[in-house]
Amino acid sequence: SYTTERPHVVLLASPGAGHLIPLAELARRLVEHHGFAATLVTFTNRSLPAHVLASCRLPETVATATLPAVDISDLPADADINMYVQVARRSLPNLRTLVRSISSARARPLAALVPDFLCSEALLVAAELGVPGYVFLPTNLAYLALRRQQMEMHHGLPPGEYRDFPEVVELAGGVSMRRADLPALYRDPKRLAFPQLLEDTRRYLRADGLLVNTFYEMEPPGLVEAFKLATERGAFPPVFAVGPLVRPRSAAVDASPCLEWLDRQPTGSVVCVSLGSGGGLSLEQTTELAAGIEDSGQRFLWVVRMPNLSTSELETTAAGGKGDDPLAWLPEGFLDRTAGRGLAVTAWVAQVRVLSHPATAVFVSHCGWNSTLESVHCGVPVVALPLGAEQKMNAIILEGKVGVALRPAARADGVVVREGISTALKELLEVEGKGRAVRRRAGDMQQAAVRACLPEGSSRRALQELATKWKLKAACGIEEK
Ligand code: UDP
Repeated sequence: SYTTERPHVVLLASPGAGHLIPLAELARRLVEHHGFAATLVTFTNRSLPAHVLASCRLPETVATATLPAVDISDLPADADINMYVQVARRSLPNLRTLVRSISSARARPLAALVPDFLCSEALLVAAELGVPGYVFLPTNLAYLALRRQQMEMHHGLPPGEYRDFPEVVELAGGVSMRRADLPALYRDPKRLAFPQLLEDTRRYLRADGLLVNTFYEMEPPGLVEAFKLATERGAFPPVFAVGPLVRPRSAAVDASPCLEWLDRQPTGSVVCVSLGSGGGLSLEQTTELAAGIEDSGQRFLWVVRMPNLSTSELETTAAGGKGDDPLAWLPEGFLDRTAGRGLAVTAWVAQVRVLSHPATAVFVSHCGWNSTLESVHCGVPVVALPLGAEQKMNAIILEGKVGVALRPAARADGVVVREGISTALKELLEVEGKGRAVRRRAGDMQQAAVRACLPEGSSRRALQELATKWKLKAACGIEEK
């Protein structure tokens, strides 16, 4: 059976759909392509709502386990990345017990323990038990390069002393970014998260390797090679590009109102709007996005989430009356004026199915890395509306280096106004003009993504290389007993 005879890999996903979804696909591939058994472990703290978890449809060939809740009531509400770190740290005893019970039930050591980048504390357990420890990065190499750069900036500094990034950050591959475009956590050494990230990156150095959800063509030129060189020099653990980890569509068609609606739209006519698992548009950005979509005159499917409300917005009585229905926060009359050509839904959607639907032409995305890879997997060009995390950086690379996105300019306060959005939409939907090259590039990248995961493709080979290494190690482990 899967669980008793095969070498076993344990993967650990931090809270959040964007971490669980790609790690589940990695686990599935290890089982279905490379002959492992796998257990996917999640935390009870901040676990996903049941309906989201159900729609993630964890692969049946992968076992699951959940670590019991740990007390984090002492953490401030805005604990940032520290929340993840603390959950992982406080869960180590439970993880140790779980890993021990998995290996003793099979009388053989684990082949590998693979925590994602926010729970790399688990490497301590791997080291303790003599199991190979690998960190999974659900984002790209450019992000990892930023982490390395932050670490190198701090080489030789006394502990507790922190240095800010320069005004303009130059990454390998000719990517340069303003400090203002970095993830918020990297903009201020005084924030708790800044030293925390640094400490985590230093911990990555003790990993046996890192698995990154990316492939060669998705990265700025030369970045893959730069990491190879760093590994050869002993400056960084080996990095394995194993993406895109997007689960192929299953044949089973899950009926949903938005898929049925898409079935009734002409081929290549619909703008799909989905800004990640959490939402997070400001109210003003919501208004501008709605106006941009309306002005473009295009058909659309919008997965609407609650806006992030400011204190004053929360306090006004008008706002109070709208409650927690996300649709109530769209501009007055928007849904009526666009009835017939647009559909707004608040449910969790099967995003890969939506993006791969023949009616879908364009994706308005926050450029979360999973959504980005899903758009590439489906060959759909992107209008980039980055919100937080490393999304601005992703958007810059997608537009400037990969060429699959248009990024309407933001105002100084960060809001992308309606004109920019409607222009980008029109450009991507019109037959001629600027959008044509972007559409063609999205098609090329779709092919590149397919190639990377074919048996001879770079990502599949990278995973095969790891699989061989892990199996050897697991076999040696048995002999030693
Ligand atoms: N997603 C989905 N349905 C939704 C919203 C999101 O399936 O209604 C999925 C999406 O396909 C992606 C993940 O949730 O796989 C979001 O990850 P991403 O990295 O794009 O963004 P995050 O939510 O982490 O910011």
